[in-house]
Amino acid sequence: MPIYEFKCMKCGQEFEKIFFSSDNEEAIPCPECKSKKTRKMMSAFAGGKSGSGCGPCAATSCSPS
Ligand SMILES: [Zn+2]
Repeated sequence: MPIYEFKCMKCGQEFEKIFFSSDNEEAIPCPECKSKKTRKMMSAFAGGKSGSGCGPCAATSCSPS
């Protein structure tokens, strides 16, 4: 499942949010100050690429390095 990294534009807090299909990506409140002025930084996958190959990632967008 995708993990998105966010940064709060108000207090500078950086945090990660795991999205489930039912979650709304549009308004993710800062866990520190509850501000919704957060910016999506990047996406990653849970656990990173610690193993060989793409593991749980079956998407064509996954490019092995
Ligand atoms: Zn904040």
